[in-house]
Amino acid sequence: MTPISHHMTDDILADYADGRLAQAFAVVVAAHISICDECRARVEAADTLGGVLLQDSDGVAMSADRRDRMMAALDQPVHDPIAIGPSGIFPGAVMQALNGNPPRWRMLGGGIRQQILIDDNKGSLRLLYIPPGRAVPEHGHQGIEMTLVLQGSFSDSAGRFGRGDVELAHDDVNHQPIADPGEACICLAATDAPLRFNALIPRLLQPLFRI
Ligand SMILES: [Zn+2]
Repeated sequence: MTPISHHMTDDILADYADGRLAQAFAVVVAAHISICDECRARVEAADTLGGVLLQDSDGVAMSADRRDRMMAALDQPVHDPIAIGPSGIFPGAVMQALNGNPPRWRMLGGGIRQQILIDDNKGSLRLLYIPPGRAVPEHGHQGIEMTLVLQGSFSDSAGRFGRGDVELAHDDVNHQPIADPGEACICLAATDAPLRFNALIPRLLQPLFRI
């Protein structure tokens, strides 16, 4: 297997370790670190560092905000225990989001399939299945998109992304990922804005209400 070459940023791993990520993104990070030894070690280091800072914080400079966050973090499991194990290409965090079931793909056209796993006001999370040679569909998002490859690979202007690789794309990045030849590409993708699809239906219905 090709080694992982596209990783999470330190900021994202620190936010994950502190429990500050929206669930959609936390699932992607949990899935990545279950595959990536390097990022898992960095999260463990961040956890240890947090503990050391807390121990050393008696009377010394630690922002009230950070202290409050740490105290809150102590009261709840930072990383939700993953009760469901991995299955095939799907890490435990993904199987948990699937409630232990295989994906129930919905056809999007052109052989592309998806299953929405999370869609709330903090973000959306979906599995995408892209046949070899197909472009990842435009799925309107604003803000950041975090995509983890679980099977196969895709390529775009930022390079080639294989199993375990994560692409962090902002809406100002013009990228059109295309699944490489060979195996179908299966990705886990989180965005921090509701799916544009959700806004589209009210827009389509709007004229009907103007009778
Ligand atoms: Zn990594």
